[in-house]
Amino acid sequence: MIAHTPTIFASVAWVAMIMAFCLLVVGRFNQRDGMLTVGAGLLAHALAYVCFTLFGHASLWLTYAVPNALLSVAVAFYTASIFRIAEHRVPWLWLFSLPLCQIVLLTLLLNTLEPRTLVASVILMIQCAFIIRWASHFAQPGGRAHILLIVGAGISLIGILIRVVTIVGGSAPEMRYDVSNLRQSISISIGTVTVMMLSLGLVLMSKERSEAALKYLALRDALTGIPNRRAILEELEREVERARRTETKLAIAIIDLDHFKTINDQHGHLAGDEVLRHCVEQLKKRLRQTDSLGRYGGEEFLLMMPGATVEGAMTAVEDLRQAISDNPTPFGEQCIHQSFSAGVWVGVPSATDDGNSLIAQADAALYECKATGRNTVRMAGGKLVGASTKAAFTT
Ligand code: GH3
Ligand code: MG
Ligand code: MG
Repeated sequence: MIAHTPTIFASVAWVAMIMAFCLLVVGRFNQRDGMLTVGAGLLAHALAYVCFTLFGHASLWLTYAVPNALLSVAVAFYTASIFRIAEHRVPWLWLFSLPLCQIVLLTLLLNTLEPRTLVASVILMIQCAFIIRWASHFAQPGGRAHILLIVGAGISLIGILIRVVTIVGGSAPEMRYDVSNLRQSISISIGTVTVMMLSLGLVLMSKERSEAALKYLALRDALTGIPNRRAILEELEREVERARRTETKLAIAIIDLDHFKTINDQHGHLAGDEVLRHCVEQLKKRLRQTDSLGRYGGEEFLLMMPGATVEGAMTAVEDLRQAISDNPTPFGEQCIHQSFSAGVWVGVPSATDDGNSLIAQADAALYECKATGRNTVRMAGGKLVGASTKAAFTT
């Protein structure tokens, strides 16, 4: 199990160099996904291990201070990649202050043994701890990237800790780079684990980010930014199931803008789009945190209010109706007046109910609103409230 130390250095350098080459080549095609930064880290990693292989054959500065500083640069690049992939501003100055400290301190302590080895190890350990910190913060919790980055940085920490413990235990000469022993073999071989796990973790993190972005786009309405039909219907099925299981009430409302075609015809489609955006903004700012609003169709919206009572739901939707008709859409010099009609269903879903059957009932109430003058809210199977009625009444 005891391997020739310079050979381990050379094999880690070889692995890191191949991976650096791959990522630098592919990273050039997309500068925003962080792969170029990962590649830069791997290149620094590979160069560090090339310098280590020369230990004893070239100056101590070149084979000790420079490669340890390069390792710090590599870890700083890996950390920068986490920020870049998460599309956050990279704190370059702060990240690269540690490699700078590394080269300055190691140059000053070059002719010592324990202090220089301790400084080099402690700075790298701090950097590994930062990777764990930022991976926990930015990578998808429980995702594959999250696991690989945290485990990879954790294993690297253990590798460096082996060096620290050996030095503190008074056996610093055992950790010289030209000495081969079991601890040395384990500690240095861990460099391969770092290279493989961190770079794979960062590639996966980039993949997870783009998948999440695509999923977000696939479930969002491009015009208004709220969940689209597919997303809101999926959420409705989940809410129906939850309300049935917990035997709690669920309220849904189908909201349809009145005479929207006339708005398009009179003011143009761009004005129609602006009315849709304006209405969504007005609705969104009046919803509770537990309510959900999605675009069900062209000028139709589905509102879900888990836990709302009949009175609560009717009051809430009536308030929204009032707000929409009281707040016309500013469009250039004009103010476009709009209103909506809504059909509401409230209850505990039965064993045979599903999203479609509840929508059908709310829809039937909506069509009664349309038939009786619009700009009103009607409860499925009964109650009508709104501008076209003098007072709320029950049928
Ligand atoms: P009612 O009061 O009976 O609901 O009448 P309406 O005119 O609102 O309903 P209708 O179904 O006749 O017309 C809806 C119009 O909404 C037709 C369609 O061109 C328009 N529409 C659908 N999606 C969009 C959109 O994204 N932008 C714009 N500007 N118009 C849209
Ligand atoms: Mg409609
Ligand atoms: Mg309409």
